Amino acid sequence: MFPLPFKQLADIIGGRIFRGPQHETIRGVVYRSGKHLQPGLICFLDPKRFSSSSFLKHKKSSGVVAPFGSERQIPRHHPLITVPNVTKALWRLIRWQREQSRAAVIAITGSAGKTTTKEMLASIAMQKYPTLKTLGNQNTLYSLPSHLFRLNSLHRVVVLEVSPPHLRVQCQYARPHIGIMTNIGEAHIGNFGSLNNLVRSKQQLIQGIHPRGTLIINADDPGTKRLNLQLFQGNIIRIGIDQPADLRATHIRSTNGMQFRVDGIPYFIPTWGKHHVYNALAAIAAARKLGIPAPLIQRGLSRYAVPPGRLQPLPGINGSTLIHDAYNANPSAMIAGLKVLKQIAGSRPAIAVLGNLLELGPYTERGHQRVGHTVARLGISQLITVGSHARTIARAAIMKGMPPERIRSFSNLQAAAVALPKMIVPGSVVYFKASRNVHLDRLVFQLKKRK
Ligand code: ATP
Ligand code: MG
Repeated sequence: MFPLPFKQLADIIGGRIFRGPQHETIRGVVYRSGKHLQPGLICFLDPKRFSSSSFLKHKKSSGVVAPFGSERQIPRHHPLITVPNVTKALWRLIRWQREQSRAAVIAITGSAGKTTTKEMLASIAMQKYPTLKTLGNQNTLYSLPSHLFRLNSLHRVVVLEVSPPHLRVQCQYARPHIGIMTNIGEAHIGNFGSLNNLVRSKQQLIQGIHPRGTLIINADDPGTKRLNLQLFQGNIIRIGIDQPADLRATHIRSTNGMQFRVDGIPYFIPTWGKHHVYNALAAIAAARKLGIPAPLIQRGLSRYAVPPGRLQPLPGINGSTLIHDAYNANPSAMIAGLKVLKQIAGSRPAIAVLGNLLELGPYTERGHQRVGHTVARLGISQLITVGSHARTIARAAIMKGMPPERIRSFSNLQAAAVALPKMIVPGSVVYFKASRNVHLDRLVFQLKKRK
Protein backbone atom coordinates (compact mmCIF):
# COMPACT_ATOMS: atom_id res chain seq x y z
CA MET A 1 0.00 0.00 0.00
CA PHE A 2 1.05 3.61 -0.53
CA PRO A 3 1.27 5.04 3.03
CA LEU A 4 -1.12 7.84 3.90
CA PRO A 5 -1.56 10.28 6.81
CA PHE A 6 -4.83 9.60 8.66
CA LYS A 7 -6.22 13.00 7.73
CA GLN A 8 -5.51 12.57 4.02
CA LEU A 9 -7.07 9.13 4.07
CA ALA A 10 -10.23 10.60 5.55
CA ASP A 11 -10.33 13.17 2.72
CA ILE A 12 -9.79 10.55 0.02
CA ILE A 13 -12.63 8.35 1.21
CA GLY A 14 -14.94 11.32 1.85
CA GLY A 15 -15.18 10.58 5.57
CA ARG A 16 -15.42 12.63 8.75
CA ILE A 17 -12.76 12.23 11.44
CA PHE A 18 -14.70 11.41 14.59
CA ARG A 19 -11.53 11.20 16.65
CA GLY A 20 -7.79 11.62 15.83
CA PRO A 21 -4.83 11.19 15.79
CA GLN A 22 -4.56 13.04 12.52
CA HIS A 23 -0.77 12.71 12.25
CA GLU A 24 -0.59 8.91 12.25
CA THR A 25 0.42 7.23 9.00
CA ILE A 26 -1.70 4.37 7.72
CA ARG A 27 0.30 1.63 5.99
CA GLY A 28 -2.23 -1.08 5.38
CA VAL A 29 -5.89 -2.02 5.29
CA VAL A 30 -7.95 -4.78 6.80
CA TYR A 31 -11.59 -5.11 6.02
CA ARG A 32 -14.75 -6.67 7.30
CA SER A 33 -13.61 -7.61 10.79
CA GLY A 34 -11.02 -6.31 13.20
CA LYS A 35 -9.36 -9.72 13.53
CA HIS A 36 -6.04 -8.76 11.99
CA LEU A 37 -5.96 -5.20 13.24
CA GLN A 38 -2.59 -3.76 14.23
CA PRO A 39 -1.26 -0.25 14.80
CA GLY A 40 -0.68 1.49 11.47
CA LEU A 41 -3.52 -0.42 9.81
CA ILE A 42 -7.02 0.80 9.20
CA CYS A 43 -10.07 -1.41 9.37
CA PHE A 44 -12.97 -0.87 6.98
CA LEU A 45 -15.68 -2.23 9.15
CA ASP A 46 -18.45 -4.38 7.77
CA PRO A 47 -21.21 -3.67 10.30
CA LYS A 48 -22.78 -7.07 9.58
CA ARG A 49 -19.64 -8.81 10.82
CA PHE A 50 -18.91 -6.38 13.61
CA SER A 51 -17.93 -7.86 16.91
CA SER A 52 -16.83 -5.36 19.55
CA SER A 53 -14.76 -8.04 21.31
CA SER A 54 -12.36 -8.30 18.37
CA PHE A 55 -11.74 -4.56 18.71
CA LEU A 56 -11.43 -4.53 22.48
CA LYS A 57 -8.69 -7.15 22.20
CA HIS A 58 -6.51 -4.59 20.49
CA LYS A 59 -5.28 -2.41 23.32
CA LYS A 60 -3.19 -0.24 21.03
CA SER A 61 -4.97 2.31 18.94
CA SER A 62 -5.55 1.54 15.29
CA GLY A 63 -7.90 3.20 12.87
CA VAL A 64 -11.42 2.19 12.04
CA VAL A 65 -13.72 3.33 9.23
CA ALA A 66 -17.33 2.78 10.26
CA PRO A 67 -20.78 3.91 9.12
CA PHE A 68 -22.37 7.07 10.48
CA GLY A 69 -24.24 6.24 13.66
CA SER A 70 -22.03 3.35 14.79
CA GLU A 71 -19.63 5.64 16.73
CA ARG A 72 -20.54 4.30 20.16
CA GLN A 73 -19.83 0.69 19.20
CA ILE A 74 -16.14 1.37 18.53
CA PRO A 75 -13.93 1.39 21.67
CA ARG A 76 -12.63 4.89 22.42
CA HIS A 77 -8.93 4.10 21.97
CA HIS A 78 -9.38 3.53 18.23
CA PRO A 79 -9.14 6.59 15.96
CA LEU A 80 -12.36 6.68 13.97
CA ILE A 81 -13.50 7.94 10.58
CA THR A 82 -17.20 7.76 9.84
CA VAL A 83 -18.64 7.53 6.34
CA PRO A 84 -22.08 7.14 4.80
CA ASN A 85 -21.12 3.86 3.09
CA VAL A 86 -18.10 1.77 4.07
CA THR A 87 -17.92 -0.26 0.86
CA LYS A 88 -17.94 2.86 -1.31
CA ALA A 89 -15.26 4.38 0.91
CA LEU A 90 -13.08 1.30 0.48
CA TRP A 91 -13.37 1.46 -3.32
CA ARG A 92 -12.48 5.16 -3.29
CA LEU A 93 -9.27 4.28 -1.50
CA ILE A 94 -8.52 1.50 -3.98
CA ARG A 95 -8.97 3.93 -6.86
CA TRP A 96 -6.57 6.35 -5.19
CA GLN A 97 -4.02 3.60 -4.53
CA ARG A 98 -4.10 2.55 -8.18
CA GLU A 99 -3.64 6.18 -9.30
CA GLN A 100 -0.41 6.46 -7.28
CA SER A 101 1.23 3.59 -9.11
CA ARG A 102 3.50 3.96 -12.15
CA ALA A 103 3.29 0.22 -12.88
CA ALA A 104 2.16 -1.18 -16.21
CA VAL A 105 -1.01 -3.18 -15.59
CA ILE A 106 -1.89 -6.26 -17.63
CA ALA A 107 -5.39 -7.73 -17.28
CA ILE A 108 -5.94 -11.29 -18.47
CA THR A 109 -9.34 -12.77 -19.20
CA GLY A 110 -10.82 -15.46 -21.47
CA SER A 111 -12.59 -18.79 -21.17
CA ALA A 112 -9.52 -20.91 -20.38
CA GLY A 113 -5.83 -20.32 -19.72
CA LYS A 114 -6.08 -17.16 -17.56
CA THR A 115 -4.16 -18.45 -14.54
CA THR A 116 -1.55 -20.19 -16.70
CA THR A 117 -0.95 -17.08 -18.83
CA LYS A 118 -0.77 -14.97 -15.68
CA GLU A 119 1.86 -17.27 -14.16
CA MET A 120 3.87 -17.30 -17.40
CA LEU A 121 3.80 -13.53 -17.82
CA ALA A 122 4.54 -12.80 -14.16
CA SER A 123 7.50 -15.19 -14.25
CA ILE A 124 8.87 -13.37 -17.33
CA ALA A 125 8.19 -9.86 -15.96
CA MET A 126 9.92 -10.75 -12.68
CA GLN A 127 13.15 -11.32 -14.60
CA LYS A 128 13.34 -7.58 -15.22
CA TYR A 129 10.87 -5.66 -13.02
CA PRO A 130 9.44 -5.80 -9.49
CA THR A 131 6.14 -7.50 -10.30
CA LEU A 132 2.85 -7.98 -8.51
CA LYS A 133 0.48 -10.75 -9.58
CA THR A 134 -2.91 -11.96 -8.42
CA LEU A 135 -2.65 -14.92 -6.08
CA GLY A 136 -3.64 -18.45 -7.08
CA ASN A 137 -6.76 -18.50 -9.15
CA GLN A 138 -8.37 -15.40 -7.64
CA ASN A 139 -10.15 -13.41 -10.34
CA THR A 140 -13.32 -11.95 -8.84
CA LEU A 141 -14.17 -8.33 -8.15
CA TYR A 142 -14.11 -9.06 -4.43
CA SER A 143 -10.53 -10.31 -4.52
CA LEU A 144 -9.34 -7.16 -6.34
CA PRO A 145 -8.90 -5.00 -3.19
CA SER A 146 -6.50 -7.49 -1.63
CA HIS A 147 -4.38 -7.46 -4.80
CA LEU A 148 -4.37 -3.71 -5.32
CA PHE A 149 -3.62 -3.00 -1.65
CA ARG A 150 -0.41 -5.01 -2.05
CA LEU A 151 0.72 -2.51 -4.68
CA ASN A 152 3.60 -0.28 -3.60
CA SER A 153 5.90 2.32 -5.13
CA LEU A 154 8.49 -0.30 -6.17
CA HIS A 155 6.19 -2.28 -8.44
CA ARG A 156 6.65 -1.71 -12.16
CA VAL A 157 4.39 -4.46 -13.50
CA VAL A 158 1.05 -5.78 -12.26
CA VAL A 159 -0.40 -8.97 -13.77
CA LEU A 160 -4.06 -9.51 -12.97
CA GLU A 161 -6.43 -12.39 -13.72
CA VAL A 162 -9.92 -10.93 -14.20
CA SER A 163 -13.24 -12.48 -15.07
CA PRO A 164 -16.94 -11.78 -15.75
CA PRO A 165 -19.46 -10.89 -14.45
CA HIS A 166 -17.69 -7.80 -13.06
CA LEU A 167 -15.09 -7.33 -15.78
CA ARG A 168 -16.12 -3.74 -16.47
CA VAL A 169 -15.76 -2.68 -12.84
CA GLN A 170 -12.53 -4.62 -12.41
CA CYS A 171 -11.07 -2.72 -15.38
CA GLN A 172 -12.35 0.60 -14.02
CA TYR A 173 -10.26 0.10 -10.91
CA ALA A 174 -7.30 -1.77 -12.39
CA ARG A 175 -7.03 0.53 -15.45
CA PRO A 176 -5.04 -1.91 -17.60
CA HIS A 177 -2.60 -0.78 -20.31
CA ILE A 178 -2.53 -4.25 -21.84
CA GLY A 179 -5.44 -6.68 -22.07
CA ILE A 180 -5.10 -10.34 -22.98
CA MET A 181 -8.11 -12.32 -24.20
CA THR A 182 -6.88 -15.92 -24.16
CA ASN A 183 -9.86 -17.35 -26.05
CA ILE A 184 -13.65 -17.47 -26.07
CA GLY A 185 -14.78 -21.06 -25.86
CA GLU A 186 -17.36 -23.13 -24.14
CA ALA A 187 -15.87 -22.96 -20.61
CA HIS A 188 -18.55 -21.72 -18.18
CA ILE A 189 -20.92 -21.15 -21.14
CA GLY A 190 -23.83 -22.52 -19.10
CA ASN A 191 -23.51 -19.47 -16.83
CA PHE A 192 -24.08 -17.07 -19.72
CA GLY A 193 -27.06 -18.61 -21.52
CA SER A 194 -25.59 -18.27 -25.01
CA LEU A 195 -22.34 -17.71 -26.86
CA ASN A 196 -23.50 -14.17 -27.71
CA ASN A 197 -23.89 -13.29 -24.04
CA LEU A 198 -20.53 -14.81 -23.30
CA VAL A 199 -18.87 -12.75 -26.05
CA ARG A 200 -20.63 -9.62 -24.83
CA SER A 201 -19.38 -10.12 -21.30
CA LYS A 202 -15.81 -10.66 -22.50
CA GLN A 203 -16.08 -7.57 -24.72
CA GLN A 204 -15.96 -5.53 -21.52
CA LEU A 205 -12.21 -6.11 -21.36
CA ILE A 206 -11.75 -4.24 -24.63
CA GLN A 207 -13.78 -1.32 -23.34
CA GLY A 208 -11.74 -1.35 -20.15
CA ILE A 209 -8.24 -1.09 -21.67
CA HIS A 210 -6.54 2.30 -21.87
CA PRO A 211 -7.50 3.95 -25.22
CA ARG A 212 -3.87 3.91 -26.39
CA GLY A 213 -3.25 0.52 -24.82
CA THR A 214 -2.73 -2.91 -26.33
CA LEU A 215 -5.11 -5.80 -26.83
CA ILE A 216 -3.70 -9.31 -27.37
CA ILE A 217 -6.02 -11.83 -29.02
CA ASN A 218 -5.84 -15.34 -30.46
CA ALA A 219 -6.12 -15.37 -34.28
CA ASP A 220 -6.83 -19.13 -34.34
CA ASP A 221 -9.73 -19.02 -31.88
CA PRO A 222 -13.17 -19.03 -33.57
CA GLY A 223 -14.86 -17.41 -30.55
CA THR A 224 -12.48 -14.46 -30.60
CA LYS A 225 -13.56 -13.63 -34.17
CA ARG A 226 -16.94 -12.63 -32.75
CA LEU A 227 -15.45 -9.75 -30.78
CA ASN A 228 -16.26 -6.27 -32.00
CA LEU A 229 -12.85 -4.66 -32.35
CA GLN A 230 -14.11 -1.55 -34.17
CA LEU A 231 -14.44 0.47 -31.00
CA PHE A 232 -10.89 -0.17 -29.87
CA GLN A 233 -8.51 2.65 -30.79
CA GLY A 234 -5.34 1.05 -29.44
CA ASN A 235 -2.89 -1.47 -30.77
CA ILE A 236 -4.06 -5.04 -31.47
CA ILE A 237 -1.58 -7.92 -31.45
CA ARG A 238 -2.75 -11.25 -32.86
CA ILE A 239 -1.05 -14.43 -31.74
CA GLY A 240 -1.47 -17.75 -33.54
CA ILE A 241 -0.16 -21.03 -34.82
CA ASP A 242 -2.39 -21.99 -37.76
CA GLN A 243 -3.64 -18.61 -39.04
CA PRO A 244 -1.56 -15.59 -40.08
CA ALA A 245 -0.68 -13.62 -36.94
CA ASP A 246 1.65 -10.90 -35.65
CA LEU A 247 3.27 -13.40 -33.31
CA ARG A 248 3.31 -16.92 -34.64
CA ALA A 249 4.72 -20.09 -33.08
CA THR A 250 6.49 -22.47 -35.47
CA HIS A 251 8.60 -25.64 -35.11
CA ILE A 252 6.37 -26.85 -32.23
CA ARG A 253 7.72 -30.02 -30.63
CA SER A 254 6.65 -31.94 -27.57
CA THR A 255 9.59 -33.22 -25.49
CA ASN A 256 9.83 -33.00 -21.70
CA GLY A 257 7.68 -29.91 -22.21
CA MET A 258 6.88 -27.88 -25.33
CA GLN A 259 9.49 -26.35 -27.58
CA PHE A 260 8.65 -23.81 -30.27
CA ARG A 261 10.03 -20.81 -32.09
CA VAL A 262 8.81 -17.26 -32.55
CA ASP A 263 10.60 -15.16 -35.16
CA GLY A 264 13.39 -17.72 -35.11
CA ILE A 265 13.91 -17.50 -31.32
CA PRO A 266 13.55 -20.84 -29.49
CA TYR A 267 11.35 -21.11 -26.37
CA PHE A 268 10.60 -23.90 -23.90
CA ILE A 269 7.70 -24.27 -21.46
CA PRO A 270 7.69 -26.98 -18.76
CA THR A 271 4.21 -28.27 -19.65
CA TRP A 272 2.53 -29.95 -22.61
CA GLY A 273 -0.14 -29.21 -25.16
CA LYS A 274 -0.69 -26.84 -28.04
CA HIS A 275 -3.11 -24.86 -25.87
CA HIS A 276 -0.27 -23.91 -23.56
CA VAL A 277 1.74 -22.66 -26.54
CA TYR A 278 -1.08 -20.15 -27.11
CA ASN A 279 -0.82 -19.05 -23.48
CA ALA A 280 2.94 -18.67 -23.87
CA LEU A 281 2.48 -16.66 -27.08
CA ALA A 282 0.17 -14.22 -25.30
CA ALA A 283 2.71 -13.87 -22.49
CA ILE A 284 5.54 -13.29 -24.99
CA ALA A 285 3.50 -10.63 -26.82
CA ALA A 286 2.85 -8.75 -23.56
CA ALA A 287 6.46 -9.15 -22.42
CA ARG A 288 7.78 -7.67 -25.67
CA LYS A 289 5.42 -4.74 -25.21
CA LEU A 290 6.94 -4.24 -21.75
CA GLY A 291 10.39 -4.03 -23.34
CA ILE A 292 11.69 -7.32 -21.93
CA PRO A 293 14.51 -8.79 -24.05
CA ALA A 294 14.25 -12.28 -25.54
CA PRO A 295 16.80 -14.00 -23.22
CA LEU A 296 14.78 -12.92 -20.17
CA ILE A 297 11.53 -14.02 -21.81
CA GLN A 298 13.11 -17.41 -22.51
CA ARG A 299 14.28 -17.72 -18.93
CA GLY A 300 10.98 -16.63 -17.36
CA LEU A 301 8.94 -19.02 -19.50
CA SER A 302 11.23 -21.98 -18.92
CA ARG A 303 10.84 -21.73 -15.15
CA TYR A 304 7.27 -20.56 -14.62
CA ALA A 305 5.44 -22.38 -11.82
CA VAL A 306 2.94 -24.74 -13.47
CA PRO A 307 -0.24 -24.28 -11.43
CA PRO A 308 -1.24 -27.59 -9.76
CA GLY A 309 -3.62 -29.83 -11.71
CA ARG A 310 -2.83 -28.30 -15.09
CA LEU A 311 -1.06 -31.18 -16.91
CA GLN A 312 1.06 -31.94 -13.89
CA PRO A 313 3.14 -35.16 -14.19
CA LEU A 314 3.28 -37.34 -11.05
CA PRO A 315 4.67 -40.82 -10.31
CA GLY A 316 1.78 -43.27 -9.84
CA ILE A 317 1.25 -46.73 -8.32
CA ASN A 318 2.30 -49.90 -10.23
CA GLY A 319 5.07 -47.98 -12.02
CA SER A 320 2.55 -45.79 -13.83
CA THR A 321 2.80 -42.11 -14.72
CA LEU A 322 -0.12 -39.90 -13.75
CA ILE A 323 -0.98 -36.70 -15.59
CA HIS A 324 -3.02 -34.56 -13.24
CA ASP A 325 -5.05 -32.15 -15.39
CA ALA A 326 -8.15 -32.21 -13.22
CA TYR A 327 -8.03 -28.67 -11.88
CA ASN A 328 -10.93 -27.82 -14.20
CA ALA A 329 -12.21 -28.72 -17.64
CA ASN A 330 -14.27 -27.89 -20.71
CA PRO A 331 -14.66 -30.01 -23.89
CA SER A 332 -11.87 -28.28 -25.86
CA ALA A 333 -9.43 -28.50 -22.96
CA MET A 334 -10.29 -32.19 -22.44
CA ILE A 335 -9.70 -32.90 -26.13
CA ALA A 336 -6.40 -31.02 -26.03
CA GLY A 337 -5.38 -32.99 -22.93
CA LEU A 338 -6.24 -36.35 -24.54
CA LYS A 339 -3.90 -35.50 -27.42
CA VAL A 340 -1.16 -34.76 -24.90
CA LEU A 341 -1.85 -38.12 -23.21
CA LYS A 342 -1.48 -39.93 -26.51
CA GLN A 343 1.77 -38.13 -27.29
CA ILE A 344 3.33 -38.76 -23.90
CA ALA A 345 2.22 -42.40 -23.73
CA GLY A 346 3.68 -43.28 -27.14
CA SER A 347 3.62 -47.10 -27.27
CA ARG A 348 2.68 -47.42 -23.55
CA PRO A 349 -0.96 -48.02 -22.50
CA ALA A 350 -2.84 -44.69 -22.41
CA ILE A 351 -5.63 -44.62 -19.82
CA ALA A 352 -8.06 -41.70 -19.69
CA VAL A 353 -10.04 -41.07 -16.49
CA LEU A 354 -12.67 -38.51 -17.44
CA GLY A 355 -15.38 -36.97 -15.27
CA ASN A 356 -18.41 -34.76 -15.81
CA LEU A 357 -18.06 -31.45 -17.64
CA LEU A 358 -20.23 -28.94 -15.78
CA GLU A 359 -21.50 -25.42 -16.51
CA LEU A 360 -22.17 -26.27 -20.17
CA GLY A 361 -25.96 -25.68 -20.08
CA PRO A 362 -27.53 -26.73 -23.42
CA TYR A 363 -24.08 -27.70 -24.76
CA THR A 364 -23.73 -30.49 -22.19
CA GLU A 365 -24.65 -33.43 -24.43
CA ARG A 366 -22.75 -32.17 -27.47
CA GLY A 367 -19.66 -31.31 -25.43
CA HIS A 368 -19.37 -34.80 -23.94
CA GLN A 369 -20.02 -36.41 -27.33
CA ARG A 370 -17.15 -34.49 -28.94
CA VAL A 371 -14.83 -35.80 -26.25
CA GLY A 372 -16.03 -39.40 -26.77
CA HIS A 373 -15.38 -39.17 -30.50
CA THR A 374 -11.84 -37.97 -29.82
CA VAL A 375 -11.18 -40.82 -27.37
CA ALA A 376 -12.09 -43.33 -30.10
CA ARG A 377 -10.23 -41.51 -32.88
CA LEU A 378 -7.01 -41.28 -30.87
CA GLY A 379 -7.11 -44.99 -30.00
CA ILE A 380 -6.94 -44.48 -26.22
CA SER A 381 -6.22 -47.90 -24.63
CA GLN A 382 -8.73 -47.63 -21.80
CA LEU A 383 -11.48 -45.17 -20.94
CA ILE A 384 -12.82 -44.72 -17.42
CA THR A 385 -15.70 -42.30 -16.91
CA VAL A 386 -16.92 -40.88 -13.61
CA GLY A 387 -20.40 -39.38 -13.22
CA SER A 388 -23.66 -39.44 -15.16
CA HIS A 389 -22.82 -36.85 -17.85
CA ALA A 390 -19.49 -38.53 -18.47
CA ARG A 391 -21.34 -41.71 -19.53
CA THR A 392 -22.13 -39.81 -22.73
CA ILE A 393 -18.39 -39.79 -23.44
CA ALA A 394 -18.37 -43.60 -23.18
CA ARG A 395 -21.44 -43.97 -25.42
CA ALA A 396 -20.00 -41.63 -28.05
CA ALA A 397 -16.66 -43.50 -28.02
CA ILE A 398 -18.48 -46.82 -28.60
CA MET A 399 -20.46 -45.21 -31.45
CA LYS A 400 -17.17 -44.34 -33.13
CA GLY A 401 -15.85 -47.88 -32.83
CA MET A 402 -14.09 -48.15 -29.45
CA PRO A 403 -14.56 -51.74 -28.12
CA PRO A 404 -16.88 -51.60 -25.05
CA GLU A 405 -14.63 -53.98 -23.08
CA ARG A 406 -12.01 -51.21 -22.96
CA ILE A 407 -14.44 -48.88 -21.21
CA ARG A 408 -15.68 -48.73 -17.60
CA SER A 409 -18.20 -46.19 -16.34
CA PHE A 410 -18.67 -45.34 -12.67
CA SER A 411 -21.54 -43.34 -11.28
CA ASN A 412 -19.43 -41.65 -8.64
CA LEU A 413 -15.95 -41.09 -7.28
CA GLN A 414 -16.20 -43.68 -4.51
CA ALA A 415 -17.01 -46.51 -6.92
CA ALA A 416 -14.14 -45.46 -9.19
CA ALA A 417 -11.75 -45.27 -6.25
CA VAL A 418 -12.42 -48.91 -5.33
CA ALA A 419 -11.97 -50.30 -8.85
CA LEU A 420 -9.21 -48.12 -10.29
CA PRO A 421 -6.06 -49.36 -8.51
CA LYS A 422 -6.55 -52.84 -10.03
CA MET A 423 -7.00 -51.38 -13.50
CA ILE A 424 -3.73 -49.52 -13.63
CA VAL A 425 -1.27 -51.75 -15.43
CA PRO A 426 2.49 -51.31 -14.98
CA GLY A 427 4.04 -48.73 -17.25
CA SER A 428 0.74 -47.08 -18.18
CA VAL A 429 0.17 -43.35 -18.49
CA VAL A 430 -3.03 -42.27 -16.73
CA TYR A 431 -4.66 -38.96 -17.55
CA PHE A 432 -7.24 -37.26 -15.25
CA LYS A 433 -9.64 -34.55 -16.35
CA ALA A 434 -13.04 -33.28 -15.16
CA SER A 435 -14.73 -30.12 -13.98
CA ARG A 436 -13.46 -28.93 -10.62
CA ASN A 437 -16.58 -29.89 -8.67
CA VAL A 438 -16.11 -33.56 -9.58
CA HIS A 439 -13.04 -33.56 -7.27
CA LEU A 440 -11.11 -35.98 -9.45
CA ASP A 441 -7.97 -34.74 -7.67
CA ARG A 442 -8.96 -37.07 -4.82
CA LEU A 443 -8.48 -40.04 -7.16
CA VAL A 444 -5.12 -38.65 -8.27
CA PHE A 445 -4.07 -38.38 -4.66
CA GLN A 446 -5.11 -41.98 -3.99
CA LEU A 447 -3.20 -43.33 -7.00
CA LYS A 448 -0.05 -41.32 -6.40
CA LYS A 449 3.01 -43.35 -5.48
CA ARG A 450 3.76 -43.04 -1.76
CA LYS A 451 7.27 -41.90 -1.00
P1 ATP B 1 -10.65 -20.64 -14.38
O1 ATP B 1 -11.77 -20.10 -15.23
O2 ATP B 1 -11.01 -21.88 -13.63
O3 ATP B 1 -9.98 -19.59 -13.54
P2 ATP B 1 -8.37 -20.36 -16.14
O4 ATP B 1 -8.92 -19.60 -17.31
O5 ATP B 1 -7.60 -19.60 -15.14
O6 ATP B 1 -9.52 -21.20 -15.44
P3 ATP B 1 -6.17 -22.26 -16.22
O7 ATP B 1 -6.31 -22.48 -14.77
O8 ATP B 1 -4.95 -21.64 -16.74
O9 ATP B 1 -7.45 -21.51 -16.80
O10 ATP B 1 -6.36 -23.66 -16.95
C1 ATP B 1 -7.49 -24.47 -16.64
C2 ATP B 1 -7.61 -25.56 -17.67
O11 ATP B 1 -7.96 -24.98 -18.94
C3 ATP B 1 -6.28 -26.29 -17.93
O12 ATP B 1 -6.21 -27.43 -17.13
C4 ATP B 1 -6.35 -26.64 -19.38
O13 ATP B 1 -6.98 -27.88 -19.53
C5 ATP B 1 -7.27 -25.62 -20.00
N1 ATP B 1 -6.54 -24.57 -20.77
C6 ATP B 1 -5.53 -23.79 -20.35
N2 ATP B 1 -5.16 -22.94 -21.33
C7 ATP B 1 -5.97 -23.18 -22.38
C8 ATP B 1 -6.10 -22.61 -23.68
N3 ATP B 1 -5.33 -21.61 -24.08
N4 ATP B 1 -7.07 -23.10 -24.49
C9 ATP B 1 -7.86 -24.10 -24.09
N5 ATP B 1 -7.79 -24.69 -22.89
C10 ATP B 1 -6.86 -24.24 -22.03
MG1 MG C 1 -8.02 -19.18 -13.23
